This record gives sequence, C-alpha cells and structure tokens, in this order.
Amino acid sequence: MQTKLLLNGQLVAGEGDVLDILNPVNGEVVCQVGEASESQVDAAVRAADAAFDGWSQTAPKDRAMLLLRLADKIEAHAGELAGLESLNCGKPYSAALNDEIPAIADVFRFFAGASRCLPGSAAGEYLPGFTSMLRRDPVGVVASIAPWNYPLMMAAWKLAPALAAGNCVVLKPSEQTPLTALRVAEFLAELLPAGVVNIVCGRGPTVGSPLVEHALVRMVSLTGSVGTGKAIIRSAADSVKRLHMELGGKAPVIVFDDADLADVVAGIRTFGFYNAGQDCTAACRIYAGKKIYDNFVADLASAVSTLKTGQQHDPATELGPLISASQRERVSGFVERAKASPHIRIATGGGPVAGHGFFYQPTVVANAQQDDEIVRSEVFGPVVSVTPFSDAEEAIRWANDSEYGLASSVWTRDVSRAARVAARLQYGCTWVNTHFMLCSEMPHGGFKQSGYGKDLSMYGLEDYTVARHIMIKH
Ligand code: NAD
Repeated sequence: MQTKLLLNGQLVAGEGDVLDILNPVNGEVVCQVGEASESQVDAAVRAADAAFDGWSQTAPKDRAMLLLRLADKIEAHAGELAGLESLNCGKPYSAALNDEIPAIADVFRFFAGASRCLPGSAAGEYLPGFTSMLRRDPVGVVASIAPWNYPLMMAAWKLAPALAAGNCVVLKPSEQTPLTALRVAEFLAELLPAGVVNIVCGRGPTVGSPLVEHALVRMVSLTGSVGTGKAIIRSAADSVKRLHMELGGKAPVIVFDDADLADVVAGIRTFGFYNAGQDCTAACRIYAGKKIYDNFVADLASAVSTLKTGQQHDPATELGPLISASQRERVSGFVERAKASPHIRIATGGGPVAGHGFFYQPTVVANAQQDDEIVRSEVFGPVVSVTPFSDAEEAIRWANDSEYGLASSVWTRDVSRAARVAARLQYGCTWVNTHFMLCSEMPHGGFKQSGYGKDLSMYGLEDYTVARHIMIKH
C-alpha cells in the first residue's frame, strides 16, 4: 500500500506523527501513514510555488492532455482505487466502482476541455485610443483541503479545475482517508512536472493549519465542516487569501400531497441514505403534506427498514458503516436527544448496529418539529426527519429557515408549482422529483453557512482564476 507523501515529484515518508488508518467495517488498522512535518509542509508549498511559473505558462492544450491521461489512468486502475476507497471508508465496493470512479474520471475530462475555452468579454476599444483585453490567469499556489466522505472525488473536484486553470496545488486529504489520494500520487508523479501537485497527509491542527497559513499560499479551497471553514476564514484574513468554501448542508425535501408517493419513497430510500447519509446534500430534512403524511411515513419507514447494511464486498450491501466510532457517537447523540422529546416517534431504526465496526441503523425520525435539533443540525449519518406541513408557504418558510443553503428538492406532479417553489428556495441547487444528481457541467455549491465558491462547471474553473485587465495605448 502506498503511504508516502508527494513532495516535489518524489514519494517520501511523512516525518511527523504516525496515524492509524482504519477499516470502518471492523475498526481494524489497515496501515499507518506518517503525517507531514512542518518542514515538509513548507517544502510542499515551496515546490508548488517554484513549479508555478512553468505550469501556468503551459499551453492549455498541453495541460488538457495531461488531465486526460490522468483520467485514463484512474479509469485503468478503477478496481484497485474503488477497492482502496471502500476499504478506507467502509462504503460498498460497487458504489465506489460504479458511481464514484466514473464521475472522478469525468471531472478531469470536463476540466481538460474547459481549460481550452475559458469565457470572457471580447477585447475592444472602450476608451478612444486604447485597446482593452480581459485575461483570466491562475491564482498561484492553492492549498486544497478535502473531507473523508468521498475522498478521491473531493480531491478530483479540487485538483481538476485548479490544474486546468494553471495553478499548482498542495492537497491535504482527510487524516482518516488518505489512501486513494496517495495511490493517485504515484500517477501524478509520473505524469506531471515536479511540484505541480504535492500531497501532504495529516490532521487539521498539525498539517492543515500550517498549510493554509503559509505565506506563499494564495488561495485555500476547503470541503469540510462549517466549523473548519470558519477557522480557515479567520486565519486567512491576516494574509487576505482567496477562499473557496464548500461546507455543510441540511437539505430540505418538500413533498406535496400530489407527489408520486412510491417515487418519493424510493428516492429518499436512496438519496437520504447513500454513503450512509454522510453526504452534504443528503435528502435528510423532509417536509410532507398533511394529507399524505401518515401513509408517507409508514411507507418510508417500511422501505428504509429493508436497507441492507454489510461488508464492502458483499454485493447485497447497500449501506456501509459510519467513518469512525466518534462519528457514530455523534449521530447516536442526535437521535437519543430527539427520542427524549415526547412528540418524536422513531418510525424505524434508532440505534447502533450490534457487533464490530461503526454501523448505525438506517433511521426515520417522524413527527419532528421545525425547532427540533434533528431538523436544524447536520447529522451526517443515515438519519432522516419528517415534519408535516399545512401549505406551500409554510413549507417554503421552514425550508429556508436554516443556516445552510446547499441543496434542496421539491416533489410534486404540478410543474408550475415546482417552478414557483424552486424559485424561492435559498439553496445552491433545487431538484424537482429527484435529489442528489450531479453532473460535471453544472455548478455545485451553496450559500449562507454552506459556504461560497462553486465546484464543477465553468464557474468552478473561473473560481480558480483571477480576471485581469490588459490595456494597450495606441
Ligand atoms: P472537517 O471539517 O472535520 O475536515 C475537513 C478537512 O479539513 C480535513 O482534511 C481536516 O483535516 C481539515 N481541517 C480541520 N481543521 C483544519 C484547520 N484548522 N486548518 C486546515 N484544515 C483543517 O470535515 P469532515 O468531518 O472531514 O467532513 C464532513 C463535513 O464536510 C460535513 O460538514 C459535510 O457537510 C462537509 N462536506 C461538504 C461538501 C460540500 O460540497 N459542501 C461535500 C462533502 C462534505
């Protein structure tokens, strides 16, 4: 197993503390990874800075070709990478192989093409006697910090647009899930000029902080929790770094009385529990019309109770464990506090799965009220709440009454109503009669405390560039 860091084109062992990497299905240690020492973090940033001049001036078609080769390489090693990802995260192997790896390869391919066609206004004579032109140039060294829920996909979302735009990157995967990024480090060492991508492993305080605070880092891109986002925003103020923040979510799901119930139940069974609910867009905060509420809760509970938890390589497994013991405790804490409210009814699940590993039962919390913690806070586990609503105004008000603003969905047979409600939801994305679906061409990202900046799409590419004006006197 590849456990070395990538520094200036070389694979080198981390010289800091040694961290255990676990298999969440049984809690056993898979391997150990040495954290980057502070001087290795410094060396990574300096290598990226030194590589920037050359990389930023590489023709877009040449950068694109390298990203395409990286995509091919990832695809050629799909089984191995999916195996590592499922081992490290506990997620079903088939999901990593069939859902994640193709999406990861596609992101590199999309940004390979996008790098060759950045949009911008036309050059022109906006003052008599002067020609103006607009450039979009790379920012410099980008520190990219990834979470543990989709380790390689989040790394791809960060690397692809940053590299396509001509930046150099120091990537820090989550200390819990570095294995796929470290394997891809070998491909990067082979394909890219030294220093263009560097990978350092380790925890937030020991490796993340010195990285984002480094004077040569010009931009920080984080996918992580709101708390980490706020800490980075504060620390970036001193050096006025550019920021790209993809933080938490608590997606409202508005189910109107006329929705196709079977479709909604099947949708939430999938989109509320995919990746064991450890997803910032998970369909977790459901508002259901009063006429259908009782039938909906009954059908949803019965569907969710059939979700099969299990080992990564069992083809029947639909749901893996949570990432860690502490994450399971956190999820359990939310459900236990909800149970203490007299109005709450646990329609199915409601506790950890006995035995090894960090499994938690897929859970439906019924009769939840708008002010309940389970409705307001991000649980990040296989738990959805259901709250009855009286009319569209109430549903929209409650849906928007959240600190988060990442993703939402509306379920109805009435297309006009769907359009009216979608227009008023304060979320980066609103799906109609579906949830969770993403594509490389469309932006992903939130507002409010879900952060700012877009992943994917041409907007993602623009985020990793600076708009510049060049003016020529005739
Ligand atoms: P986290 O905030 O604990 O950690 C994220 C990353 O930040 C890790 O690599 C961690 O080591 C690093 N980090 C922590 N403190 C740091 C510091 N002070 N300086 C620099 N780096 C630091 O988040 P997590 O638990 O790994 O991931 C779950 C969270 O990520 C959830 O809140 C989820 O909603 C969010 N998330 C958001 C999106 C999105 O697109 N908006 C996608 C996936 C996950």
